[in-house]
Amino acid sequence: MKCYIGLGSNLGDSVNTLKSALAALQHHPGIHLTNTSSFYQSKPHGPADQPDYINAVAEIETTLNPHDLLDALQAIEQHHHRQRDGERWGPRTLDLDLLLYGDSSIQSSRLTVPHPQIGKRNFVLYPLAEISRNIIFPDGSTLSAHLSHVADDDLIKLDSP
Ligand code: ATP
Ligand code: MG
Ligand code: MG
Repeated sequence: MKCYIGLGSNLGDSVNTLKSALAALQHHPGIHLTNTSSFYQSKPHGPADQPDYINAVAEIETTLNPHDLLDALQAIEQHHHRQRDGERWGPRTLDLDLLLYGDSSIQSSRLTVPHPQIGKRNFVLYPLAEISRNIIFPDGSTLSAHLSHVADDDLIKLDSP
């Protein structure tokens, strides 16, 4: 299944953490990394008194079902010292969110796919568009339409790492 993963970090050496997370995705036996966006610097959403984020989006091909993929993503977060006891949307070493799982819509206690905030977040939409401009979401809305409603003014595309 073709899927998109959102990566974020704003604690520690975020660029290296994202590189390391991409390598971990690539090395997972059930995951093949097929494309990676540029890295972007973005302003924190939620509590503002925290460092800027580094974000990226990865395209993968996976044999894992959605919940096994979430397990794999959370294991990689843990490996990068993600603490789960902080405030919501507080600073973190690594956040891996499942943005899209093919064109599936999933609702469970652990998983909502597409990711509920996907249409509102410039640090998701712009890197996603870099990889695949013509995505259509399961509800029939287009990536292009979402992009036209979300500004990129506080988003800085970084030089290739
Ligand atoms: P946000 O989801 O708004 O970006 P967050 O990434 O900081 O916030 P987390 O603390 O990483 O939130 O995750 C909280 C819970 O969200 C996880 O334990 C997971 O079960 C659940 N979750 C639901 N849908 C998804 C998804 N599509 N991708 C990742 N986690 C999800
Ligand atoms: Mg998140
Ligand atoms: Mg998350």
